[in-house]
Amino acid sequence: AKADGKNTFRYYSRELEDSAHQQEKLMSMLQKALPGHELELYYQPIMALETRKIVGFEALLRWHQPELGNIRPDVFIPLAEASGLIMQIGEWVLETACLQAKAWQERYASGLIMNVNFSGRQFHHPNIVQNIVNMVNKVGLDARLLNIELTESVLMDQSSVMIEKMHMLRQAGLDIAIDDFGTGYSSMSYLRQFPINTIKIDRSFIKGLPDDPEGSAIAQAILALAKTLKLSAVAEGVETQAQAEFLRANGCEKIQGYLFSPPVTADDAERLICQQLGR
Ligand code: C2E
Ligand code: CA
Ligand code: CA
Ligand code: CA
Repeated sequence: AKADGKNTFRYYSRELEDSAHQQEKLMSMLQKALPGHELELYYQPIMALETRKIVGFEALLRWHQPELGNIRPDVFIPLAEASGLIMQIGEWVLETACLQAKAWQERYASGLIMNVNFSGRQFHHPNIVQNIVNMVNKVGLDARLLNIELTESVLMDQSSVMIEKMHMLRQAGLDIAIDDFGTGYSSMSYLRQFPINTIKIDRSFIKGLPDDPEGSAIAQAILALAKTLKLSAVAEGVETQAQAEFLRANGCEKIQGYLFSPPVTADDAERLICQQLGR
């Protein structure tokens, strides 16, 4: 038993070493991602349920690693957070998304909104509001076309400072969305204090619609809450027509999900815009 224990321990620690080694390797690869032009933004359409028209896009980061292939943001964003690389990467994401939004606005006068994700470390940076406002000005984008997505967990931390930052962004004309709504540890009462425009209902509450009674009750409750607080609601991860129909019947304004389109390249997103305009 002793030997077994020892072997088990050895095996376990070797595994840990391997995974620590893997992380380190991935980290050094990630350092080269930006200078090596391995990062790309994909864009997923957000649709108005009533008109079935695209009203905006969410910018989603993709990493094409030359040796390993595509690495999911769920894997590398936490690494970028831990290493601080998120600051440079986030700056690139913001600039690229703003330039894209500006280009589409100039070409199509479409009024399409661009949603950009900000993670904790990024939004906690003391100069973040100034950085965002500076970028919007530098690019010459109408600030009203930029929407900042923040998760509840980002906001719970140092919430008074966060609320101040959100007010400053609102004053500059930007909109703020709460991402993955319902999965954080926020209490509903915080929602009234946050100067937000939109809640994005997490995919986990959409998945079981319309058959799962609990999921349906939660989705309905969130939609009722949004209505009372005069917030716009976007349902994430909508994959079926039945889900879309349930959401429409319960007053959800907008949907995002594979039903209409997965995240696509800038060129493909532009094709969708042209299609909609009949060009
Ligand atoms: P998120 O912000 O919640 O983004 C939505 C995720 O759901 C995306 O995953 C999207 O591809 C996926 N999705 C959209 N529609 C459907 C659907 O109908 N079914 C299913 N199963 N999935 C759907 P993705 O692109 O892998 O991104 C994962 C997460 O990585 C994002 O979750 C976000 O938290 C983070 N992320 C991505 N890009 C950025 C970025 O530029 N900056 C930061 N800070 N985080 C990012
Ligand atoms: Ca998001
Ligand atoms: Ca989300
Ligand atoms: Ca998420």
